[in-house]
Order: sequence, then C-alpha cells, then structure tokens
Amino acid sequence: MEVSLGQKHKQAEFPLVSVSELSSSSSAPSSSPVVARFSINSGVPELRFHQETESNDAFNVDLRTAKLFKLSSIQSVCISEGSEASKEKTYSRGVTIQFRKEDESRAFHCAFEQWKKEVVVQGSHLQNGTVLASKSKFDDKIEASSAKMYFHYYGQLLHQQNMLQDYVRTGTYYAAVIENRADFVGRVVVDVGAGSGILSLFAAQAGAKHVYAVEASEMAEYARKLIAGNPSLGQRITVIKGKVEEIELPEKADILISEPMGTLLVNERMLESYVIARDRFLVPNGKMFPTVGRIHMAPFSDEYLFIEIANKALFWQQQNYYGVDLTPLYGSAFQGYFSQPVVDAFDPRLLAAPATSHMINFTTIKEEELFEIDIPLRFTASVGARIHGLACWFDVLFNGSTVQRWLTTAPGAPTTHWYQLRCVLSQPLYVMPGQEITGQLHMIAHNAQSYTISLTMSAKMWGPGAEQGGILQTSSCKFDLKEPYYRMSQPQAYSMAQDQQPHQLLQTQDIQIQAQEEEGSDLMQQPSQNSGDQLH
Ligand code: SAH
Repeated sequence: MEVSLGQKHKQAEFPLVSVSELSSSSSAPSSSPVVARFSINSGVPELRFHQETESNDAFNVDLRTAKLFKLSSIQSVCISEGSEASKEKTYSRGVTIQFRKEDESRAFHCAFEQWKKEVVVQGSHLQNGTVLASKSKFDDKIEASSAKMYFHYYGQLLHQQNMLQDYVRTGTYYAAVIENRADFVGRVVVDVGAGSGILSLFAAQAGAKHVYAVEASEMAEYARKLIAGNPSLGQRITVIKGKVEEIELPEKADILISEPMGTLLVNERMLESYVIARDRFLVPNGKMFPTVGRIHMAPFSDEYLFIEIANKALFWQQQNYYGVDLTPLYGSAFQGYFSQPVVDAFDPRLLAAPATSHMINFTTIKEEELFEIDIPLRFTASVGARIHGLACWFDVLFNGSTVQRWLTTAPGAPTTHWYQLRCVLSQPLYVMPGQEITGQLHMIAHNAQSYTISLTMSAKMWGPGAEQGGILQTSSCKFDLKEPYYRMSQPQAYSMAQDQQPHQLLQTQDIQIQAQEEEGSDLMQQPSQNSGDQLH
C-alpha cells in the first residue's frame, strides 16, 4: 500500500543546519544544529524549532496559519501569524530555514504539507508525534480528488440507472434476497453503499425489520425520495448520508447487503468499505450478501485485439507530421496503449487453457489484505496458440440459508455492465497443446481507488532447440486498472477513462507484428470456469 494510516507522518523530526528569525529583534543565525519537530501542543498542531545545545532557545510556529516557501534547494522561509497561545498575536513571524541537503528539504516540505492538511484540516489526535487516526479510514487512504469524482459519478441518476438496467446484476440480487427471506425476516439490515436504495427496498420486501441505507454521494437524497414514494416498504428504511467508515448506527446489523464490485472485482476499492462496515456494524457471525467473491483468470489468444492495440500507436511512427518527426514518442505511446486493461465481452473460445481462480471471503478477509493481492498463475495450454495475455472475470456468491446463488460475469454467460477484463501483453508467448504456462498477477492498491497490476507470464520455448535448453520465454506488462480501454460503446461500469470510441478499423500497415493466420477460430472450445449454470 502506497499510503496507509500512520505512515504518512512517520518522520516528525528533521535535522537542520540553522534557523534564523526574519524580524529585526531576532537573534543572529544560530551556529549550532537545530531540529524541527512537528507535534501537538495543547491541542494546537505546531512546528517546533529546537536548538540542540541551547534548549531555552526553542520557538514554535502555529501550523494552522503557517506557510512555507522555498528560497533555494536547501533554504526555505516559514511565515506564520504568531501563536494564539501567546494571546498577543497580530505580527506575522518568519524564519529562514537552512537544510543540510536537498532531499531533506523536500522531505520537510512534504511533511509540512501533510501535517497541515491532515492534522490541521482534519483535527487528528497525536501522541508522541505520531498520528493515531485521521478523520476516517477512507480519507486516510484515498486521494480527496479521486473521492470527489467518484461520489460525483454515483450521485447522478443516469449511472444508477445503468446499474439498475443491468438485469443480470439486479435480477440476481433480487432473486438472492427474495429466495432467502429467512435471512431477512425480522432482521436488521445495513445496505452498504445504497445508491438509489434498490437493495434496501428488496430487503424490506423480504421482510426486514429495519434497513439502514448508507450512501455517501448525493444519491442519498434521491434514495430518500424513492423510499418515501414506496411507503409500505419505506417506513422500515432509514437513509443515512455518509461514508460507512464515518457514520454511526443506533444498532448492529444481522445482515449486510451491498454491491461493492468493480471491474476485476476489486476496482474502486469498495470491497474495503464493505469489510470495514462488517467490522463496524455486523453482529458476530452475521450474514453478508454477497458472501464470497472469486477472480477467475485464463490465458487467451486474440490476434485481432493485439493488432488493434498495437495499431493505435502507429500514429507516432509518422516522420513528417506537418514537418515534425513523431517517432521519438512511438515507444511511449506503444507502452501506454499496452498499459490499459481491455474491457469488453469476448468469446470464451478465445481462452487457451482452463481457468484458475482466486477466492476472497468477504466474511473473514482483513481490509489490509486487499491492499496487495498476489496471485500465482499456472495453466496447461489446451491448444497451440499465440498467447496474448490474461483474461479475467469474477463472480460472487450469495450464501443464503435457503438458496445459494451466484452472480457471474464470465465470458459466454449473459453479459453484465462489468463485461470481462483482459490484460494484453506487448510480447505474445508461443505455446504447444499441453504446455505449461506459469506467471504471476500482482495487484497493488493505489490512492485513486484502484490498482496497479503487474502481470508476468512465461512458457518454455518450443520449436528447434527447445529440447536442449528449455529456454523460458517471459513477457511482463504493467497496467493501471483505473485507465481501462472500453472496447464497446455501451454504458459502462464506473471508470474515470470514459473512452467510448467505437472500434478502430484494423490498419493493414506492417508494424513489426507478424500477424499469423487467423488462429482464434480453430481454438478448442474451452468450458470456462464460470458459474453461469448456477444462474437462474
Ligand atoms: N446498492 C446500489 C448502488 C451500488 S453502486 C445498487 O446496487 O444499485 C455503489 C454505491 O456505493 C455508490 O452509490 C457509491 O456512492 C456508494 N459508496 C461507495 N463507497 C462508499 C462508502 N465508503 N460509503 C458509503 N457509500 C459508498
């Protein structure tokens, strides 16, 4: 995890060369080393400059009003409006700070900004110079600008409608709730991220005693309206506007219901909110709908997709674009296109080996375990093909007392607004039938509510000489799950990258990629490890 609780404020003390006050009454620059320390004094966050030799000479800057300016790479000036504690403020106070090294100056500036933002704005509590907790677990790990865009998106009815119109999704939720009335009748329910309030209304239909519909975006107001308009159910539903990480509830829940899944299951990082809601509000051994989730993965072969992506970068191979040679940027553009996971619905016949899966149990997993997900890969190729990458999809289980129901997004199953996701390698691998493909899918959460994905796939070389050496062909690529390439123009799941361009026509130029004979069509049909048969 790039940023996590407590880590941001680890270094609360910085050694300096010297500090001198700007005002005329100040003393000459000190010659002995000084330490700058961020701390809380009587509830006021402050920056304290402390001379190592002359302990009496320490002076403080009130962080609530302080500003820091860079004069050079190792010199800065800090201005503050004087301490409130002194009760005689009015004059601003300035100090010149001399750092030992440029990177120490940078670290100090970084800490200054963080303490100002996190401590001053959010009023966190400190002890021994370390932040114990900021306003909420959510704000602590998610960039404010990302959260703002995210909740703005979900605050709009059109996006809620998009999810409601995914009948595979909403119909499966409805069936899972109604068929498991026994889990809802007379129970207290929390709807985690209620959106329009639809799942709360389903829970009320199934006989819930009371439903708390928690929604952080402006959609909470619409949910109130919808719920008020369905009074027979609405009288048992309370909408609470806020983040599940921050709100309080008057009672514990017997069951949680939520739809926290993003592309590849984990995108949007809402599973973490689901798990936090579990720890905050669910009674011990309470139920969770959905209960578990699985990410399924299989190698695929798709020459058309590969050429389509490679072709996108061809623009940058022009040597005379209005008299400008664009080729210096060709490599970067090529890499950029191959770092976008592709989202579309593909034919399961493109899969080149039986799928493997990674299970996430929502009832037991710890929030931190979702910060970094490492999945070892091992497949046996069922066909001879060029492997162009890894295809991924997910399913979730509603483990009801009466009926167990799966919601699947598998290729070949009825399409959902999540479609499937494919990580395309810029360097394909060649495999023979029966050959082993190994690798790793490594996902690291980032503070823009998504993941950085590293994919490595390897296969032993085949063809002349392979028997002797057994040379391994390995291909690796990095992807940002936040920047997918949506390959269709239909409404989509939440994503910042709203790339809705229609398919680009395949170009015929020769681009170092030797397009083989069309091989997708003769791939053996491979039953994917999906749960489509359990649907409906
Ligand atoms: N439950 C609705 C909406 C699902 S979309 C349905 O099934 O149709 C997920 C919703 O969760 C969005 O409306 C989003 O704003 C909300 N959400 C995401 N993270 C949240 C959090 N931490 N606290 C509260 N709401 C959250």
